[in-house]
Amino acid sequence: MSQSFTPIASLGEFGLIDRMKERLADIPRSENLIEGIGDDAAVYRAGDGKLHVVTTDVLIEGVHFDRTFIPTSFLGWKSIAVNVSDVVAMNAKPLYATVSAGLPRNFSVEMMDGLYDGVAEACKAYGMELVGGDTSTAHALYLSITVIGEVDEKDVVFRRGANVGDFLCLSGDVGGAYAGLKVLLDQREQLENLGESYEPDLEAFQYVIQRQLRPNARLDVIQALKEAGVRPTSMIDVSDGVASEVHHIGRRSGVGATVRIPAVPFDPETRAVADQFLDDIDAYALFGGEDYELLFTVREEDVPKIDEMEGVSVIGNIEVETKGVRAYSPDTGLMPLHPAGYQHFDAPPQPDPGAFGDDEGPSFEDTDFSGDGA
Ligand SMILES: [Mg+2]
Repeated sequence: MSQSFTPIASLGEFGLIDRMKERLADIPRSENLIEGIGDDAAVYRAGDGKLHVVTTDVLIEGVHFDRTFIPTSFLGWKSIAVNVSDVVAMNAKPLYATVSAGLPRNFSVEMMDGLYDGVAEACKAYGMELVGGDTSTAHALYLSITVIGEVDEKDVVFRRGANVGDFLCLSGDVGGAYAGLKVLLDQREQLENLGESYEPDLEAFQYVIQRQLRPNARLDVIQALKEAGVRPTSMIDVSDGVASEVHHIGRRSGVGATVRIPAVPFDPETRAVADQFLDDIDAYALFGGEDYELLFTVREEDVPKIDEMEGVSVIGNIEVETKGVRAYSPDTGLMPLHPAGYQHFDAPPQPDPGAFGDDEGPSFEDTDFSGDGA
């Protein structure tokens, strides 16, 4: 008996999600569902003017993280923080988490303690409760996290709300997590080349390594925006790089955008890493992933309030869709900004394949069915 076999990788990330949607299309849709697949999190009505926001993510050893790099307590923290980041990107407050773990046979009790200490620390930091989960043995360390958040229906923010004339804003600084990954990969290579005689020097790179291994979800930023009386018109968290996220907002909102490159903030330590590797700092800032900052748009009349906020930058503006997504700098003028690189620049720096799945660009391994994918 012969059966046709199509490798799943041949679909690509977006093709995979479209195909899944096709298979699921017959499920009757409730009128309380506001947003299914296609934003940072799914959104449905929970009654009393409240919406619930749900996001889920898997982290798999060898695909999303390398256990030789990351202490298990940081991994526990990061697994919660990246999900909280998606909830926050809907302007919602995270409330509950479930954590399921597949534990390999060589995993120690001490490692497990570290993992759950990190999970607990993150839950406390974001004011959430851990309400359940599952454990199993597995061939590699595997974590599956679900976070549920809540937001008043009038306050929810989607990727799809940006309007022509809005301004594009970014919290914090970007490129640091990618710089941290570069440092860690380099240290591993040195260790392999020089063996036992090599002493890693990570002192100089604490900020960028922490950005990579222990990122922070910007719950504080949505709280500060609320206090300032600013409701973003659209929002997304920066998991795949600023350029990629601007494209997501553009596609979902039916708009174009111009990013002013000199306005995109990076930390001096990020610049030092780029300089050390003779890389372009702008490529780190625009295309580096995993910073988990918030990229959002605001109405023109809210810009003065944004200017008064600390740690939020206006980095560009929203234009008509036909102009596409562009980048501007005084050196280069206006040029098309692609999700993963400038059109006429060399390809952006890419980490070693297999080290951290999220930085490998679109592939079915990091498809986020609940959110970032479609
Ligand atoms: Mg996201």
